[in-house]
Amino acid sequence: MDRRALLTSLGAVVAATPLGAQESPPRWPSPVIDMHFHMRASPARNVAHQQGAGITAANLLARGGDASAVLALQAQNPKMFPCWFGSTDVTKPDAEKILTQTVKSGAKGFGELKFPVAADGPEMRRVYDLAAELDVPVLIHFQEIGQPAAPGGYNTGIKRFAAILKAYPKTKFIGHADAFWANVSADYHEQEAYPTGPIVPGGVSDRLLSDYANLFADTSANSANNALSRDPAFTADFLKRHQDKLHFGSDCNCEDGRGGGAAQNSDRVAPRMRGKCVAQETLKLLTASTAPQVFRKIAWTNAHRLLGLKA
Ligand SMILES: [Zn+2]
Ligand SMILES: [Zn+2]
Repeated sequence: MDRRALLTSLGAVVAATPLGAQESPPRWPSPVIDMHFHMRASPARNVAHQQGAGITAANLLARGGDASAVLALQAQNPKMFPCWFGSTDVTKPDAEKILTQTVKSGAKGFGELKFPVAADGPEMRRVYDLAAELDVPVLIHFQEIGQPAAPGGYNTGIKRFAAILKAYPKTKFIGHADAFWANVSADYHEQEAYPTGPIVPGGVSDRLLSDYANLFADTSANSANNALSRDPAFTADFLKRHQDKLHFGSDCNCEDGRGGGAAQNSDRVAPRMRGKCVAQETLKLLTASTAPQVFRKIAWTNAHRLLGLKA
């Protein structure tokens, strides 16, 4: 076994750390762009998470429709923050106006959209029309079951979503969150947010990714990590089959890229991810579950292609 294969088999490719030295950031099989990076309160905190987790670049999910903080951070760190998505409350009458303005200010997509509406309701339908017109993807949080940090449902009705994918062929959709990822298994009936155990093939979201060219997904949050940790044989095959449609994302709340900080250690975080950096955990999982060329697509190339960025 050569060095690369050995390190790959160990999961993360971690640089050797001399005793007593500051912990080095991990190294991954290719450069990485985090497609699900919620913008933090200060410029330094955004950079700290990237550096601690060994991540090259991030797609910033702006706080609402205000572009100014995003543009300032981008100007300071153009390589680390090459792109961003704009968002606004889709239930408000001025949603289309605000979303259009974010794209005029440089946003490459809408999201994340996490509001208590149906995924096939009138609020989201007007967003899908606008996304097609402006040629930007829509990042959707699909949730059916309430959570401590997010009670109620958001973009409900993923099991009906094939009709939307068919009705809006020019709109590019990025799926994310617990209902999307729990539905990789065909036996899912909204019994819990994070089901465990082996995957039953033929789940709704797996089929939608296969059947519709306009559906993509990000591997962010505990939801994706949980789904991709359930059944290693399924995961390896799933990542191979959808290697051109998945984007690495973290949705991590930790402060330092190593699991630190109060938010990632609170009881609002799923116990299996508490005190851990979601970015690092999912990158380790992807490293262990894919060939290096597939890792590169998921962690780097696919996002650049979807957003029209130079790799
Ligand atoms: Zn979300
Ligand atoms: Zn983290």
